[in-house]
Amino acid sequence: MADGVTGAVADLRQALQARLGGDLVLIGSAEIAAYCRDWHGDVHSAALAVIRPRATSEVQAAVVACRELGIKIVPQGGNTGLALGATPDDPDHQVVITLERMNKIVRIDADDFSAVVEAGCILSEIKDAVAEKGMFFPLALGAQGSCRIGGNVSTNAGGINVLRYGMTRELVLGLEVVLPDGSLFEGLSTLRKDNRGIDLKQIFVGAEGTLGIITKVSVKLTPNPDQVATALLGLSSLDDAVTLFRRARRDCCDLMSAFEFMPPLAFVLAREAIPDLAMPIDGGYPAYVLMEISGSGLVDIDDLMGRFLEGVMEDGLVVDGVIAASVTQARNLWLFREGMNEGQAKRGSHMRTDISVKLSQLADFVRDAEQAVTDALPDCISVSYGHVGDGNVHLNVLPPAGLSADERRARIYAAKNVVNVVVDRYDGSMSAEHGIGRLKRADFEARLPETRRALLTAVKHAIDPSLTMNPGCQLKFSENS
Ligand SMILES: Cc1cc2nc3c(=O)[nH]c(=O)nc-3n(C[C@H](O)[C@H](O)[C@H](O)COP(=O)(O)OP(=O)(O)OC[C@H]3O[C@@H](n4cnc5c(N)ncnc54)[C@H](O)[C@@H]3O)c2cc1C
Repeated sequence: MADGVTGAVADLRQALQARLGGDLVLIGSAEIAAYCRDWHGDVHSAALAVIRPRATSEVQAAVVACRELGIKIVPQGGNTGLALGATPDDPDHQVVITLERMNKIVRIDADDFSAVVEAGCILSEIKDAVAEKGMFFPLALGAQGSCRIGGNVSTNAGGINVLRYGMTRELVLGLEVVLPDGSLFEGLSTLRKDNRGIDLKQIFVGAEGTLGIITKVSVKLTPNPDQVATALLGLSSLDDAVTLFRRARRDCCDLMSAFEFMPPLAFVLAREAIPDLAMPIDGGYPAYVLMEISGSGLVDIDDLMGRFLEGVMEDGLVVDGVIAASVTQARNLWLFREGMNEGQAKRGSHMRTDISVKLSQLADFVRDAEQAVTDALPDCISVSYGHVGDGNVHLNVLPPAGLSADERRARIYAAKNVVNVVVDRYDGSMSAEHGIGRLKRADFEARLPETRRALLTAVKHAIDPSLTMNPGCQLKFSENS
């Protein structure tokens, strides 16, 4: 047996390999290690095995085998999720089923503005493939070179284009899903309008693999926005950023596709990760906005951006700004937004949040939450940034250098509790777009109203009565409740 493992674990591994074949089932601890740690490398786990099906029928066979052997299943896409939904927490009883080999684009239908893809397709590969046909798939996020569309659907991912195109839920036309008994939910329609009863596919969107394994997805496309204007703006405050956002929505006729705010620390963090990044703007303003408007056809996007910025600068809402003159320059501006994540990671483990509050309360929330962190943890640094238009803030807390691992963990735990109290006070959400996974389960459960819990339990028991799918993710269920 691999790694000298004997006993019940070895028996289950052998049974899986006998039923599914050695090519589908990995069991060596070295070969499964990458599937068992989270994206940040903060959490390392293990699994009974990693199963790598190549087709829907093989997913069905794997699910049936696991169920009959009493093995639990953790589905996995690109393993870039930030809520510990895709990594096992009970290695002797759980397998990972990865969709990585199911990565074919089934068809792109430009006339229909739709595409059908296997769930293991990497998001950026879908975007590139549809762009070749003059089309655009709007879902866009920092992990797009690694995350897979089945994972995006399962987390109902958001990203930078939500304000114009909506969350993943709004981009999904249909799904094919292997249910926990191995049967197939065949809902791979590309119809835009279909009101024949309850829209069952939506149950699987955002379910984080707790109700079945998504094997194919049909998605909505739009015409490729061949004109894109990107600007990085310096402002006097976050309040001004919110005012600017409202004005941009009104003045840019909803052609705005991204509106991200960042603190000045973003530049420092980004350059810690990517030292060659040239500063495009003075780094001393209290707040920054990275804004993008885009369109296709007869509109003149550069002219629109130019006139908009002229007006808001005249009014003093924007103090300084730079408009990208080329695709490369636009890419460099985005590198500050993306690089700041990597810069935070380089400073060691830290508290990450994914909060949403009402847009009208965003600036007050950030002020109050950062103040609460400073009062409770004066040696930590708060970094708030995010998707302003969606009221979505990532308020992260970085412990100082030189702490032991235990001291860091204690700071992170304390910071999370401090921020959650402020989120509750604002009636906000502690998971705007990353999901619950295992990371936020306890906080989610603690705030779950009874009726909602009862409905979620009823749905789980109806679809997965043997509690095979992703146990411990989102909620803890037992056979009777
Ligand atoms: C640098 C970076 C930037 C990010 N930016 C954003 C952002 O802007 N907005 C945002 O919303 N998120 C963001 N994320 C997190 C985001 O949720 C994921 O990147 C992505 O949506 C998850 O896709 P994945 O394929 O990696 O899924 P995984 O991490 O593999 O899985 C995520 C969850 O979905 C389940 N799952 C995966 N595939 C399937 C399937 N086929 N069937 C059923 N269940 C499945 C897993 O069990 C798990 O619960 C970011 C992550 C990183 C690392």
